[in-house]
Amino acid sequence: MVGRDLAARLGQAGARGSDGVVMSLRETLAGPAGAAWRLVGPLLPRPPGAFRILMFHDVPDSQRAALRRLVERLVAENRLIGPAEAASRLRHGGASPGLPPVLLSFDDGFASNLEVAETILAPLGAHALFFVCPGLMDLSKDEQAAAVSANVLRGLKPAPEPLMDWTAVERLVTLGHTIGNHTSDHLRLTELSADAKAEQIEKAAEALRSRLGETPDWFAYTFGDVDSIDAESLHLIGRHHRYCRSGVRGVNGKGTAPLALRGDHVDLAATPTWRMLAVDGALALAYGEQRQHLDRMVQA
Ligand SMILES: [Zn+2]
Repeated sequence: MVGRDLAARLGQAGARGSDGVVMSLRETLAGPAGAAWRLVGPLLPRPPGAFRILMFHDVPDSQRAALRRLVERLVAENRLIGPAEAASRLRHGGASPGLPPVLLSFDDGFASNLEVAETILAPLGAHALFFVCPGLMDLSKDEQAAAVSANVLRGLKPAPEPLMDWTAVERLVTLGHTIGNHTSDHLRLTELSADAKAEQIEKAAEALRSRLGETPDWFAYTFGDVDSIDAESLHLIGRHHRYCRSGVRGVNGKGTAPLALRGDHVDLAATPTWRMLAVDGALALAYGEQRQHLDRMVQA
């Protein structure tokens, strides 16, 4: 299947990072691959009620137009679902003809997330998931900048943007969005002792419960790859939360383990065609082994 092979190779290229050669290769091939995938993708087997969870982070001004166009397209194609619909599909399945619908999620709690919610999502009636780190939100401005730089950006980007405060998070709830736990301080769980893992998961769950009135159903572990999670952490997460979203690409639906949900990162700096390969699932073909690894950890 030419479309599938091409898309798989593109997925691997994307997974390797965005150095210049890979960027130009992937942009050149994205057009034909996208066209092939729109034909082949809907024919591949998938679970009842299939949907994808798209992942975004900070959305700077320069990327707002791209996000707006993407969300408008998904609304026009009737392919946007909210967290409640996603939960229902995990439990009961449901029909999804054509390419699966998607749920939007935003990680790390950057202040830009509320602006996106107010200016892009609200006018379109879209409801999304927002994963926040209570330990980072409670820091002073300077402490927060240092912690975000070290824990979230890991020195890869200078001058981090500020995070939302609790008032902003409460405003998201008022707008109908769902807040999830993203650990207390955005540490990589697999680098922590058993006690520290528990603290990162449970302290954040408790902070969210006391501030928002209930423990969130949703959790997203930091960094999202299979090397950033383990069976012990998933067990702890499952004691407090119903759903855990990874960053491992793939489709979800009835039969997907609720603690091993797949997430498809969408690079808003890429071309529209490349972005749609992520949204439509072409990039997920290269992640089969990682999905199996994640499922084994949940079952352990
Ligand atoms: Zn994160």
